[in-house]
Amino acid sequence: MPILSLGTIALDRVSTPAGRVEEAVGGSAVFFCAAASLLSEVRVVGVVGDDYPLLELDFLRERGVDFGGVAQLPGPSFFWSGEYSEDFRSRTTLETRPGVLADFDPRVPEGWRDSTMIFLGNTDPGLQLALLDRTEGPSLVVADTMNYWIEETREALMRLLARIDVLLVNDEEAVQLSGADDLAKAAACIRSLGPSVVVIKRGEAGATLYGAGWSHSCPSFAPDRLRDPTGAGDAFAGGFMGRLEREGRHDRVALCRAAAFGAAAGSFAVEDFSVERFRSLTVDELAARARAIALAAPPPAGTSGAEAARLSGRQR
Ligand code: AMP
Repeated sequence: MPILSLGTIALDRVSTPAGRVEEAVGGSAVFFCAAASLLSEVRVVGVVGDDYPLLELDFLRERGVDFGGVAQLPGPSFFWSGEYSEDFRSRTTLETRPGVLADFDPRVPEGWRDSTMIFLGNTDPGLQLALLDRTEGPSLVVADTMNYWIEETREALMRLLARIDVLLVNDEEAVQLSGADDLAKAAACIRSLGPSVVVIKRGEAGATLYGAGWSHSCPSFAPDRLRDPTGAGDAFAGGFMGRLEREGRHDRVALCRAAAFGAAAGSFAVEDFSVERFRSLTVDELAARARAIALAAPPPAGTSGAEAARLSGRQR
């Protein structure tokens, strides 16, 4: 069944040591779809302004992404501008302009409400909660967030955490959200707020999944070239969820295997600006890279039935 996703559909101005782009298509939903659509069908809920170059997203439509939940409103699209340091390791947000996102009320088309897998991409937690309220008992809810929302909308974010199964965050965000001074403690603290599993991404150091009494570290893959790290986190989410949907299960083993697809998708995202690398990327290339990652750190064997039941039994 298609993944139901929510996130920003943005225009990005990005400057990195490898170059600069203006008004490039981006946003958490766009990077998510670029990766997830290689593995699964995806439904998108979001908003664009009347300035958005929708034709740029045709390659996603051709791959089966359904934009039936995207509203076009009069006004400017969500705009984000960021700049990377000389070594690409740190990023400064120069400007965030919500535009039409500020007045957006997400509508879930009638036939989409019973979607079983939901991805709440990085956006206002109030919108993430509203989308959840308009769905009917999904079996897996994965969410992403970032420093901006942790600072600005902490209370809504806490309400969201109580209703999700998996949270994806980077290391700095995990520390900021929990107040803990190391990542294992941060994950334990975040898990106590709701999600059964927390995935902490550490850029080129890889990602670690933390569950009840277990953790699994998945290495990153050195990309062929590094041009623009923007969207790597959202692409990770796309590879991760696309793989889970394809496997049709989300127990510990499936989650660990899916992380390799997330890491592979993230490593492709950074090879070019915006979603350029995904225009020509094939599922075979993605799978080959995921296999190489999984070989470097094999996921656990076997399935924990109790864990699978816990993950799918949450009351929302
Ligand atoms: P990432 O590099 O994975 O953090 O994602 C970068 C993408 O997130 C860019 O395409 C931005 O348009 C988008 N973005 C930046 N700030 C926000 C925000 N506060 N909420 C949602 N999306 C954002």
